[in-house]
This record gives sequence, C-alpha cells and structure tokens, in this order.
Amino acid sequence: MKVLYKVFPAFLVCLFHASVASAAMSVKPVKAFAPALIPSIDLFAPHYRDVGAHDLPPTFGLPFLDLAISRKPVDLLDLPAERQHVISKSREVGAAALSDRSSEVLLTSFGKDRRVEEKARSLVEHLSRSGSISFATPRERDAVIAELSLTDKSQARLHFDQADKNPGSVVDLLVVRAHNADRARFYLETLERTKSLHFRMLPEFFRNFSVIPGEISFPDPLANENNAVSRLMDKNGGYILFAPGTPVSVTYKNERTPGPSAFVSVAGPEIQNRIRMLCACTHEYAHLLFNRVVMRGAETPAPAAITAYRPLSEGFAVTLELLANERAVAHPDKLGLSEPDANDLKTEAESRIRWLKHENNAYTEGWLQFWRPIYEKNGTAGMVEFLHRIDSKRLLGIPLGTLSYQLLLDRDTRHRLEALTIFSSRRKP
Ligand SMILES: [Zn+2]
Repeated sequence: MKVLYKVFPAFLVCLFHASVASAAMSVKPVKAFAPALIPSIDLFAPHYRDVGAHDLPPTFGLPFLDLAISRKPVDLLDLPAERQHVISKSREVGAAALSDRSSEVLLTSFGKDRRVEEKARSLVEHLSRSGSISFATPRERDAVIAELSLTDKSQARLHFDQADKNPGSVVDLLVVRAHNADRARFYLETLERTKSLHFRMLPEFFRNFSVIPGEISFPDPLANENNAVSRLMDKNGGYILFAPGTPVSVTYKNERTPGPSAFVSVAGPEIQNRIRMLCACTHEYAHLLFNRVVMRGAETPAPAAITAYRPLSEGFAVTLELLANERAVAHPDKLGLSEPDANDLKTEAESRIRWLKHENNAYTEGWLQFWRPIYEKNGTAGMVEFLHRIDSKRLLGIPLGTLSYQLLLDRDTRHRLEALTIFSSRRKP
C-alpha cells in the first residue's frame, strides 16, 4: 500500500490538500458540549400509557401489527341482519379487550387448556364488570360469547383483517394480540426513548424521523449485536425491526429485568433489558441518519455489505451509540437516570468495546480506524462535516479486500484519513 503512495504522491497530495484545505476552512471550531442547555427529562417516563393493540400504527409485514381490527362495515358481508348485530357487538368486545390494560392481564392469564367458551365468558364478564361494555339483554350477551368462541378461519376474518392466517377462535386471537400489544408497547416506548436520547445527547446530528417498529428474526439467535436492524423507507422515515428473543424476548412487563448483554460473545454482566434495547436502538437510529445523509434517502443496495460502505456506516453507528452513552452516563440527572440505569449504560458500552476488540470486524474498522480518529481530531463538528462529504457511489465502488480498501487501512492515522477523504468525497460539481 505504501508503494501506491510513492507511485502517485503528487496526485494524492494534490487532491488531499485541495479537499482538506477547503474543508479545514469550513470546519467550525468544535462546539463544546453544553449539558447545562439540556432541559431535564425523564427518559423512561411512559409515553404510551394505555396503548391497546388497535392503537398501534398500521404497517406491512409485521406480525404484531397486521391484525388490525377490521373497520369494514359489516353490511359488506352477505350476512343475515340479526347476525350482523352480534358481529358488531363482538367487535366492540374485541376493541374493549385490546384497549383495556387490565383485560390484557386477564387475557394472558387464560390457561391454554381452558375451553374457548370459558375464555370468552370470562372476558365478557370482566369487561361488563369494568363498565367497558354493556349488553341490552342476557340473550345478547350469550350470543356474543358464542360468536367469540366459534373456531373457524372465516369467522375470525369477520372480526379482524388478515386473520385468515391465524386459525382459531376470535377469543384466541385476542389472547395473541394481548401478548403482542405488550411487546409492541415496549417497542414504541423504546423508539421514543431512543429519539429523546439522540435529541438530548447528540443534538449536532439529530434529525426527526418517523420510525415504525417491527419484528425480524435471525436464523442464529446468538447472532451478535443483532437486537435490532433499521431500514430507511424514504427521506422522512424508516423502520426499526426488533429481534424478539435475541437473546431474550422483552415486553413492557419485563423491561426492567436484568438480562444478558447484547454482546454475547464477550459475556459481560447482566443489565436491564430496556437498557440493552435502548443501546441497540440508538445504534439503529444512527444508521437512519447515515443513510439519510449519505444515501440521500435511497435504498441501500445489498452488495453494500461487502464494500467500504459497511465499515463506514457501522463505524458511524457505533461511534454515535458510544458517544450518546458516554454523555448520558456523564449527565444522568438530565435524563432522570437512576444510578442502576447509568451503571447499566456504562456496562453495555464496556461490553460493546470489548466486543469490538474481540471480533475485530467491519464495526471495529469503521469505529477505530475512521470515525474515532475524525472525532478525536475535529470533534462532532468534524464528523458532521465528513458525513456530508461522503459520496455513497464512491463508497459502494470500493469492495472490501481490494487495494483501494487496503489504502484506507494504512497504519498511519493521517494517511488513513487522507485516503478516506480522497476515496469517499463527493466530487466537486
Ligand atoms: Zn449496525
């Protein structure tokens, strides 16, 4: 790699000086981080107090969201008039069950071996007692219980969209949705916390995205770091897909329970589930920022994973994740973090760093070789400036392992950043 520098020194030096000299003039002095300006908030205050499954945002392909209660007028269906009323009424029961937190507790307490009719009766009685639903006559109530108990795909479809994927009675579907609503609530809360953390701790980078939660599963449940992944939908928003069960499934109920760190290969101390997922989400939100700026909102092509794009994007996400974490730990009072919260954040950052050194992969390269030196040299202003100069086409044109990429990994930090500047900067128009 040194040889190439000797072959084209004038070319490199010239390009380097041209781009860096102009960049140096435009780089503003690093703004000191001013924690005093951050208004205090409680990061973990609930945003979604009484979320019911039907309150969740609609989206595609996401198992816990695609069972939206059908708003189709019943008269579209070719049904006898007296049956339409029972269906309307049992939909009301469904909606009440999904928006009532205590009925979710009731639903989740249904034993698997209980008969469907018993479950339906117990649900209806609970909702009647709590005043969420009322019936004109005992006969109407019995008709609804019978309706909810029927086990038939088409039956379920009368009550829910896309329910034909889920055979079983309506009351069984309600149980599934109740479980999912609790997990979905956790996702929604985590996204709000992530945005708050970015907004408070990384104001230099912050962009307000509309983020939709979803779920994804990985073939290897022990896949490192994959607690979540993100995708940009368009320039205004994206989605963050959570991996339930990696390494443990988190819901709103067990979010404070200690669980394994995301970085299983370096097995650190256990931390609260919600802190692990917050760190994972902070990383994913940084990817959305990177893709918004570098890809200008365009879809990232799949082969990006084997080009310089990968270490640059992963390194950026890791650097922001660690920076947010470090700042949060330094100012726990600003975020209303308890001592255990701050300790857990610190522990997860330490595990992340041990993991980076242990794995020595694209994340490590991007963090240690590129973004950290930029940060150390010019702070976050240097990172922002560099981010805006990256040309995605040029990054995607440098496959990992090629000579061009090797140039980026020069032992000398200065040479490395020079090569990075040359190989990744947008050409001047
Ligand atoms: Zn990542």
